[in-house]
Amino acid sequence: MTSPWPTTPATDAERDAYRDAVPRPFWLDRRENPATYPALSGAVDAGLCIVGGGFTGLWAAIHAKTRTPDRDVVLLEADRIGSGATGRNGGFLSASITHGIGNGVSHFPDEIETLERLGLENFEELRSDLDRLGIACDFEDNGEFAVALEPHQVEPLKEEAELLARYGHRVELLDRDRVRAEVDSPTYLAALWDRTGSAIVDPAKLADGLAVAASRLGVAIHERTSATRIDGPSVGGAVRITTGTGGEVRAGRALLATSACPPLRRSLRRYIVPVYDYVLVTEPLSAEQLAAIGWRNRQGISDTGNQFHYYRLTDDDRILWGGFEAVYRFGGPVESRYDVDEGTFAALSQHFFATFPQLRGVRFSHKWGGAIDTSSRFSCFFELSHGGRVAFAGGYTGLGVGSSRFGAATALDLLDGRRTEATALRYVRTKPVPFPPEPLRWAIVQFTRNRLAAADRDSGRMGLWLRTLDRLGLGFDS
Ligand SMILES: Cc1cc2nc3c(=O)[nH]c(=O)nc-3n(C[C@H](O)[C@H](O)[C@H](O)COP(=O)(O)OP(=O)(O)OC[C@H]3O[C@@H](n4cnc5c(N)ncnc54)[C@H](O)[C@@H]3O)c2cc1C
Repeated sequence: MTSPWPTTPATDAERDAYRDAVPRPFWLDRRENPATYPALSGAVDAGLCIVGGGFTGLWAAIHAKTRTPDRDVVLLEADRIGSGATGRNGGFLSASITHGIGNGVSHFPDEIETLERLGLENFEELRSDLDRLGIACDFEDNGEFAVALEPHQVEPLKEEAELLARYGHRVELLDRDRVRAEVDSPTYLAALWDRTGSAIVDPAKLADGLAVAASRLGVAIHERTSATRIDGPSVGGAVRITTGTGGEVRAGRALLATSACPPLRRSLRRYIVPVYDYVLVTEPLSAEQLAAIGWRNRQGISDTGNQFHYYRLTDDDRILWGGFEAVYRFGGPVESRYDVDEGTFAALSQHFFATFPQLRGVRFSHKWGGAIDTSSRFSCFFELSHGGRVAFAGGYTGLGVGSSRFGAATALDLLDGRRTEATALRYVRTKPVPFPPEPLRWAIVQFTRNRLAAADRDSGRMGLWLRTLDRLGLGFDS
């Protein structure tokens, strides 16, 4: 059997379905009067300066103030809070800090037990932080479906179920009838339902809630304030962060949480490739449309090819549908003009209606894209510089909604010289294998994407190139 995805171009109806969609992230578009924060002008002193107002930066601000309330913390965000990947994602909140257990086992076999436990602890702490900080973000703890669409994808689901069960996850394998009784797609052959450490949230509500909580704790947040350079440390030990607004922060420590954006430290460019992922969101489904597909338990869903879709219901019963093509452009630009990509939207729409033919006629209200901070090991890494006064945390590769909380806490530990169970791990102490510079980088990424798609068309059979990367512990994902 071949892939369920049509090989013919999208039809006019499939293109019409998203033609009038608003080219903005659904989550950000529906925010009503989010709090605003002034740009920085003038010079300020701080114990800690955080650059980046996404999940990593916001969690770092909260951790820092919770641990040491009298530390002055300043957060600089080039655009608006949550305007990067944080406000553009699918809202899948996973406990895994290793981009899934399979990736964790292959990269950190000696540490996976600890990493799994730390990930689950982080998930539970995040959940209680939401209560403690009073953040309402439509957290729904219904677990996640991984669905098999081709026969060769069924056996790996069983293997993954055994692996997850070994690490304490509550898992269930569903055959075709049972999965279709849950969510009715003619493409489904089987599913793995992981009910442990897997939720969905509204990421913009989460980011806004974190920003309000951080501000309440005394963090000085500055939006529309781009950090342009970082110097030091000076004789007094402070680093100096200059901003594009004419401001300056003299800080004892700085945390760079800039994800896939051009980093302030050039050395980081070797470890991250910005990869664009695209998303469509439907209009709210009617009761009849919902009844036609089931989905009463509202699980997050992803299919299991190398190129995969992720999809979920929103609180107002739309379907968010994203993924499949992971687009890398020469030189890795991150610019607003790449927030839309006609070819990718056409494929997404076509695949949506192949998955849910019952929903033909449904229209998409929103379409957008965002840059993912892909690293060659698909999980967070850390870099300390400036004599240990500056840290970077990022590289989550498409699974950072939950793990950014862990990344932020660990980066603070490194900055504060705190020895913890996490800071002793190879996961924290080592960096991913760097990507080569351009033009080799572009050639390798494109060739790898091409081979991954070819493997999907050939019942998952990996050719020599993918097997070699696998042996070297390298990869490309979103
Ligand atoms: C389309 C898409 C779908 C995704 N889906 C999921 C999902 O369902 N589940 C999941 O776990 N993960 C998902 N992710 C990944 C997840 O969104 C990220 O891992 C997470 O948001 C990373 O947070 P961050 O704070 O590190 O980065 P970001 O949210 O990108 O924040 C970085 C911030 O730094 C700011 N900045 C950059 N440079 C500067 C500077 N010089 N000065 C000041 N500010 C600066 C940027 O403006 C930005 O706001 C997805 C990502 C995308 C793009």
